[in-house]
Amino acid sequence: MLILMKPDSSQKEREAVCQHIDKLGFKAHPIPGEHSFAIGITGNDGPIKEREFLPLGGVVKCIRVTSPYKLAGRKFNPKGTKVKVGSVTFGEGHFVNIAGPCSIESEEQTLRIARSVKKHGADVLRGGAFKPRTSPYSFQGLGLDGLKILKEASLELDIPIITEAIDFESLKLVAEYADIIQIGARNMQNFPLLKEVGRTKKAVVLKRGLSATLEEWLSSAEYIMQNGNDQVILCERGIRSFDKYTRNLLDLSAVPSIKTLSHLPIIVDPSHGTGRKELIAPMSKGSLAVGAHGIMVEVHDKPREALSDGYQALLPEEFAHLSSEVLKMSQSLN
Ligand code: PEP
Ligand code: MN
Repeated sequence: MLILMKPDSSQKEREAVCQHIDKLGFKAHPIPGEHSFAIGITGNDGPIKEREFLPLGGVVKCIRVTSPYKLAGRKFNPKGTKVKVGSVTFGEGHFVNIAGPCSIESEEQTLRIARSVKKHGADVLRGGAFKPRTSPYSFQGLGLDGLKILKEASLELDIPIITEAIDFESLKLVAEYADIIQIGARNMQNFPLLKEVGRTKKAVVLKRGLSATLEEWLSSAEYIMQNGNDQVILCERGIRSFDKYTRNLLDLSAVPSIKTLSHLPIIVDPSHGTGRKELIAPMSKGSLAVGAHGIMVEVHDKPREALSDGYQALLPEEFAHLSSEVLKMSQSLN
């Protein structure tokens, strides 16, 4: 349930509504808007009666929210949420370019690639220190040493960093070292981890699960938000399908669909989404065309030596070309 307040309702009236929600044993979420003020209610199992609130001063109407997610739903912030990380903004009117290697492999490799992507237009540097690999025999990441290397690159180049947390232990470290926490596709429904991410109050990129519906994905965002963190950015990274030509089926229709269903920013990862480097540029441009708020792309200068995902990494010069094309396109789209 959402309670729409008169734009000129007083602070006292708004507080009285919140207190009434508390009294009923539910949680109130004040949502200030430019031209409106709403108060969301969570914690109720069933419908709440409108007549509980209509007599209270300043209340215009009550709007029922029937989806399993509420805080993540569009109605909770119709104008769209902006997530700010330093000088970078995720949300409508912005297109954030995230790039870097799949994994942090060494200090030299990371700094080389970081310098290059920063020079060629990356707004945020990516790199995995904790790698959720399908095979236990594959490279699992450098762990804390990897985070330290990523941080070193961030400080040298003055660029925010994103890296994945895979469990409680890595989350603590990632929250300490990184600017943005990444929750990978394989952990999209790790509910205890999502709750803990909610308690960090740090910006988080929540990737779509390998075969998650939009409703499941937004319900996962809800877990994070319900635990106190509204700095959630969604990332479409492809879903399982039957055709092995691409690693995944990059669902670009998810972008405008999510923008209808939710107020959260949404970016696209065409690297994992396709697993084919020649598809990264066209799908990046497609992402921008369908209204995504950014892309996350894997880049490696020695892809044959990469310890993970080298086959889907762009070379630095290919990334430079992509960045300039995307920039031109976003300027013409305004
Ligand atoms: C990654 O971005 O490094 C990654 C493992 O992605 P995903 O969780 O989408 O597979
Ligand atoms: Mn990867």
